[in-house]
Amino acid sequence: MPDSAPEPKDLNLGPVTYLMSPSGGRYPDGNSILVEGERESVLIDPAIGLNTRERALPRVDRVLHSHCHEDHIAASHLFADVPWHFHSLDLPGITSLDAMMAIYGLGGEVEAGFRNMIVETFHYQSRPDPTAFEDGDRFDLGGVTIDVIHTPGHTRGHCCLMIRWKDAEGERSLLYLGDIELTSFGPYYGDAWSDLEAFEHSLAKVREIDARHYVTFHHVGALEGQRAFRERLDRFAAVIPQREARLLDFLRDPHTLEEIAEHRFVYRPGDPVSFIDCVERRSMAQHIERLLREGRVRETEPGRFTAASGRG
Ligand SMILES: [Zn+2]
Repeated sequence: MPDSAPEPKDLNLGPVTYLMSPSGGRYPDGNSILVEGERESVLIDPAIGLNTRERALPRVDRVLHSHCHEDHIAASHLFADVPWHFHSLDLPGITSLDAMMAIYGLGGEVEAGFRNMIVETFHYQSRPDPTAFEDGDRFDLGGVTIDVIHTPGHTRGHCCLMIRWKDAEGERSLLYLGDIELTSFGPYYGDAWSDLEAFEHSLAKVREIDARHYVTFHHVGALEGQRAFRERLDRFAAVIPQREARLLDFLRDPHTLEEIAEHRFVYRPGDPVSFIDCVERRSMAQHIERLLREGRVRETEPGRFTAASGRG
């Protein structure tokens, strides 16, 4: 295929290969991770791009998933003969398409369209027999280990994975962050199975984890050292209070949740994604709940909110 663009080079870090997608891991694609031990090889989060990868796919003994979302399972079906692992809380999503749709909780016409897309674009294939892992579980591949760190918020069962090995320089470590994606978009907590405050706790938790390398599924690439990681993480986390501050500003006049969703605090106005309204509503409802609890927002009449210091 001489006319096709050259595929990006994978990044090799000891037994870890970061399988770079041609788009740099931009949604709907992502960068999967292959970990090759002396006894076993594990693939983490098989991305959609693996379906058309020209280079040979690796032989793997099991597939680990940071969480059950469409873009993280989009090439799992290529490895149908080996065990698929998820955190127990996200496990139901892979057992049936209905269970998968419950994670998003879209409803109505939007759900029907997204349901089709998950099957046709993302190659969703249910598995009756997925395997659960829990926080603190360890996979020993021989000379390299993978530890599960439960970091809920994006989904209930979202996990980061800490990979450790030794080389001539001594202990090496890589923290795979899944969809704690460190992008300028900021944290995503707009699904039925998302939780804003759980996400905030998870951000604080990973901030304390010291590793040599940090990688995400989407297009940030590999970061070296905790200092570089914390800089990116702090900018990513800051999007949450920025959304909240913009919301409080908007609520100087009373507004309903529908009006808040229409105004757009998560996506940019005009972003053409079918499920935006639902995601905006669910994301910002969690901010409203928190602000009501803290007395910084009040409900002037049923379903209409205003900043405590605002008009109305
Ligand atoms: Zn996700």
